[in-house]
Amino acid sequence: MSDRELHCDNCEGVQTFEVPPCVDGHGADCPELVCTGCGTAVLIATFAFPAPRLADRRPARRPAPHRRAA
Ligand SMILES: [Zn+2]
Ligand SMILES: [Zn+2]
Repeated sequence: MSDRELHCDNCEGVQTFEVPPCVDGHGADCPELVCTGCGTAVLIATFAFPAPRLADRRPARRPAPHRRAA
């Protein structure tokens, strides 16, 4: 059972929210939370999408930009 504290506009304060019984088959990933204070269901949109982080593909060896003959 995962619950978290969020600000509830209805309760005008921080309340404990818990995941309601999901009927949409989201399971543990259900984006819905219900305020235990007033029962208002909120949708949390705080899913962290794993951004496809492109590796910075720079050549390992950087050519010397300007080399002066001593
Ligand atoms: Zn759900
Ligand atoms: Zn509330």
